[in-house]
Amino acid sequence: MTNHFDLIVIGAGPGGYVAAIRAAQLGKKVLCIEKRASLGGTCLNVGCIPSKALLDSSELYHDVKTKSSRHGILVGDVQLDLTALMKRKTQVVKGLTDGISYLFKKNGVSSVFGSAMITAPGKVTVTANKGANEGAAGEKSVNEYQAPAILLATGSEVATLPTLPLDHQFIVSSNEAISFPEVPKKLIVIGAGYIGLELGSVWNRLGSQVQVIEFLPRILPLTDLEIAGMVQKSLTKQGFEFHLGTKVVSAKVIGNQVEVKAESAEQGSGKAALTFWGDRVLVAVGRRPNSANLGLETIGVTIDAKSGKIPVNSKFETNVPGIYALGDLIAGPMLAHKASEEGIAFAEMLCGHAGHVSYDTIPSVIYLWPEVASVGLNEEEVKKSGVSYKIGKVPFSASGRARCMDESEGVVKIITNSATDRILGVHIFGPRASDMIAEAVTIMEYHGCAEDLARLTHAHPSLSESVGDAAWMAYTGKAIHF
Ligand SMILES: Cc1cc2nc3c(=O)[nH]c(=O)nc-3n(C[C@H](O)[C@H](O)[C@H](O)COP(=O)(O)OP(=O)(O)OC[C@H]3O[C@@H](n4cnc5c(N)ncnc54)[C@H](O)[C@@H]3O)c2cc1C
Repeated sequence: MTNHFDLIVIGAGPGGYVAAIRAAQLGKKVLCIEKRASLGGTCLNVGCIPSKALLDSSELYHDVKTKSSRHGILVGDVQLDLTALMKRKTQVVKGLTDGISYLFKKNGVSSVFGSAMITAPGKVTVTANKGANEGAAGEKSVNEYQAPAILLATGSEVATLPTLPLDHQFIVSSNEAISFPEVPKKLIVIGAGYIGLELGSVWNRLGSQVQVIEFLPRILPLTDLEIAGMVQKSLTKQGFEFHLGTKVVSAKVIGNQVEVKAESAEQGSGKAALTFWGDRVLVAVGRRPNSANLGLETIGVTIDAKSGKIPVNSKFETNVPGIYALGDLIAGPMLAHKASEEGIAFAEMLCGHAGHVSYDTIPSVIYLWPEVASVGLNEEEVKKSGVSYKIGKVPFSASGRARCMDESEGVVKIITNSATDRILGVHIFGPRASDMIAEAVTIMEYHGCAEDLARLTHAHPSLSESVGDAAWMAYTGKAIHF
């Protein structure tokens, strides 16, 4: 393989691999370097895909056990084969990561496996993984590659707390919680963000008793507060136990159990000391950018000291010419589709085209059941902005399709500017919200109003009729079916 390229991409996650493919499609000679043994980054290997495969399997198991009889379908004794369930997850992951190797070949992107480090602007050395690109005696080989443009797409990794060191067996991160060898009887989840609640849902459906400990007085801090409250009630009904406003101070493995000590937030007379016991503890307190050990300090790339993120301009350029960054490594929501959009925009701009990411209309989905999906501003943000607003809100209990599915929990909530009718935010808590949010993204991308959305024809019977009805309510003050 030649060592000279037009573009070197470090990291083959949804930001890096998409940027590499798009740049190759536009005629650039591209090398993508990945330190994992497979392509696809956090998302495909240990994030979005394995967690959703587990969520889908556990949902099916739970539905067969608890919902099928309501449809008149009686299934005898339902058994769980966790090994088969995990095997299916691994196959889904492998199919998709192999798919990226295929896409690289199809688009002419070269790839090497190993840890990359920038030694000078335009120069990258790669220390090969053991077993990949190895020297004859099995020693690790180091190769140098050159390109006028280097894209940092090294993503993020699990954030930990000094008081809660992981032992990766009993006190674990999401990396291990997607592969527990058995269903924990009691699972303690520390952190009520989407990763903790999604993985908590998987194990709750498979039989774990799940306790969530969260420092803040609420769950899902970025979600519309009213919707987050509904989600909390729903999860509580499903068996979750929440301890909000509670700070974990230590966790200790004793035998095959973990003792977690915590303090509830100050209430009148002071803090109450609490003790929890679990078979496994999942620490889900966030992720931090992978900006260390890349040689960035040597070549003078600025790294934000507090967040570890790399500041970039609208063309994804860092302060050092020829070095770019995107995805979880830079500001903005840590989401796969945000990273991929940035990958496309970056590649197009690098190749002299116009590139753009609509940051105001990046949807976010939480794959609980019912699902939570949103785009735009939540009610608290709208209130804070001082804009006078209206709300259209209809429950799925008014939807014929939701009733046929026996899935009538949840609402569609649309927030509009009361002077102009323009849609400011859409929040869906309901069945298949992940698919329905696409319509809201489209209409908001085109700066649409509630009237535009209300007057679109929604197929009957479909869940999306509730989106139309909530838009009618926001536009006229009255829904048609509620
Ligand atoms: C459990 C879980 C569930 C998630 N679910 C969702 C979801 O449903 N939807 C969603 O949008 N997002 C989800 N995410 C977040 C999503 O995975 C990330 O936002 C996304 O992967 C970021 O993409 P990226 O390309 O910036 O980085 P990453 O996907 O992190 O990829 C970066 C790659 O760079 C490689 N790398 C790092 N350093 C080097 C180096 N020195 N040399 C070579 N390679 C290097 C890493 O090995 C990694 O493969 C989830 C995350 C987790 C943990």
